[in-house]
Amino acid sequence: MQTASTSTAMLSTSTRAINKHNDARTETSTMQPAISLTHVTKRYAMPRGCNVVGLDDVSLMVDSGQFVSVQGPSGSGKTTLLLTIGGMQRPTSGQVVVAGHDLYAIGQAERTKFRAIHLGFVFQMFHLVPYLNVIENICLGADGRPDNRQQAHALIERLGLTERQQHKPSRLSVGECQRTALARALIARPDIILADEPTGNLDPENTEEVLRVLAQYCHEGGSVLLVTHGAEAQHHADQRLKMEQGRLC
Ligand code: ADP
Ligand code: MG
Repeated sequence: MQTASTSTAMLSTSTRAINKHNDARTETSTMQPAISLTHVTKRYAMPRGCNVVGLDDVSLMVDSGQFVSVQGPSGSGKTTLLLTIGGMQRPTSGQVVVAGHDLYAIGQAERTKFRAIHLGFVFQMFHLVPYLNVIENICLGADGRPDNRQQAHALIERLGLTERQQHKPSRLSVGECQRTALARALIARPDIILADEPTGNLDPENTEEVLRVLAQYCHEGGSVLLVTHGAEAQHHADQRLKMEQGRLC
């Protein structure tokens, strides 16, 4: 079995996974939330002793299978929230537990490994590799299991990319780019998808398609935390939150 951390960082070892995305990955984490933030604050240190508040005493619980939307204006702390949950930004204070792992109690190398195993990311700007075609970009997210190629083809079909699989990003529409990025995030079947304004560049039709795929992922047992300045994800979300000046409400 593959786990990302030593047992000292595991908060529970007694439960068996029912999350379909976990396979043999986290037999430890089902009775606990997918994400748990407790009194998390992030202050960015600025010159002359000034601090900018990114997160202000944020507590949050996301269960397995939940679709959570966080809506807030630019600068309210949405990206900071995702970076913190993604193990890429240590909070100033508070505890971040993701898939049963106390993220900032483990070393950086373990955190990187943890991220690759448990988390998938989708961004507004897609971040596709320009010189790779669709299927190659998707396979960048693969985790080396024997069925990766099969999984890539299944996602290509499901996301309507069959005719585009040999095309590079410069020849794709923005909707196709985002669906490729989505497939790249889904291919390794992570426990949790973190999505930062994933529909910010899309028209209403493509927006709905991306949200529908994310919602389906939750129905299959994965968890999604999506942050956005708009209200487009609300009708898919099980938990709808707002963010303002670093605070969740
Ligand atoms: P959002 O994603 O909602 O637009 P961010 O999380 O990017 O908000 O930013 C929240 C606040 O933290 C903003 O005031 C922003 O200027 C500040 N901030 C974000 N990243 C940094 C950083 N690396 N250094 C200093 N301030 C930052
Ligand atoms: Mg942002």
